[in-house]
Amino acid sequence: MRDTSFPRIYRNNPEVLQVNLGYKCNQACGHCHVNAGPARTEMMTKETIKNILEAISIYNFNVLDITGGAPEMHEDFEYLVTNAKKLKIEIIDRCNLTILKETGYEHLINFLSQNKVKIVASLPCYLEENVDLQRGKGVFKKSIQALIELNKAGYAEIGTELYIDLVYNPQGPVLPPSQKELEIAYRNHLYKEYGIKFNNLLVLANMPINRFSDQLQKENKLKSYMNLLKETHNESNLSLVMCTNTISVDWQGNLFDCDFNQQLRINDHLTPRTLKELISKKINLKNKEITVDDHCFGCTAGSGSSCGGALS
Ligand code: SF4
Ligand code: SF4
Repeated sequence: MRDTSFPRIYRNNPEVLQVNLGYKCNQACGHCHVNAGPARTEMMTKETIKNILEAISIYNFNVLDITGGAPEMHEDFEYLVTNAKKLKIEIIDRCNLTILKETGYEHLINFLSQNKVKIVASLPCYLEENVDLQRGKGVFKKSIQALIELNKAGYAEIGTELYIDLVYNPQGPVLPPSQKELEIAYRNHLYKEYGIKFNNLLVLANMPINRFSDQLQKENKLKSYMNLLKETHNESNLSLVMCTNTISVDWQGNLFDCDFNQQLRINDHLTPRTLKELISKKINLKNKEITVDDHCFGCTAGSGSSCGGALS
């Protein structure tokens, strides 16, 4: 047993296969929980990507949630999307927006819209100063340009079936504000200033792991942030945390309960442990205990936090 007061939780039917294609990214944001950046070289092999497609067929996942790094930088990103599309699964690209403006990636907006890929895009504020502070100089302007082009391609237009959600996370060790109220502020500001439309705003708490945790440690704020997360633990979020319907795959094909546990390399209960074993025979993944530790309070604090935004 881990030394944590976080309650024991169990998986329901797994519906989402979340796949981390690797840690290479064109950015190196201060809060990044995967420590991604331009110098990272870890990338999923083609063989593992083929295993992903096989797992989707065998287990009838409803959603393929592709993440990274910047997943579009993987040379087989388009291979994965086009082949997953044939399996009639919803595909989500967790996109940092700026990659769409990088040389060599100009065709991506067309590709994503043709394949009706849902985009979940980071935009931690609607103000330039705050975005550039957290994600690097020039990121806000590039993100706005990308959003304008995505709207032109039909994203967030009624009837196109092209969806784009934006993701907000706080600048520091505080809980996010109300998702509903912030969404109104984002919608009004982005439309008024730039004519930008989007579908939903997803509000996420910063996870006290990796780069963000190191930063807090340096500033001597880690303990107080952990206390805040624990004090605001909301029991009603427990049944909704994303690990209850997700299986997470790392770039080497190892399985975890969620992307955060993947980054911490903790997996006490989930068997099988690899994608290869998962596809070797059909295994019942329901009712299996999930590995939890103190970072899990980041998912249940306040209104809760998940890849789909606030929980309650
Ligand atoms: S864009 Fe995303 S993956 Fe890349 S460094 Fe920033 S937070 Fe990490
Ligand atoms: S950090 Fe992962 S395992 Fe823990 S509650 Fe959140 S989704 Fe579940």
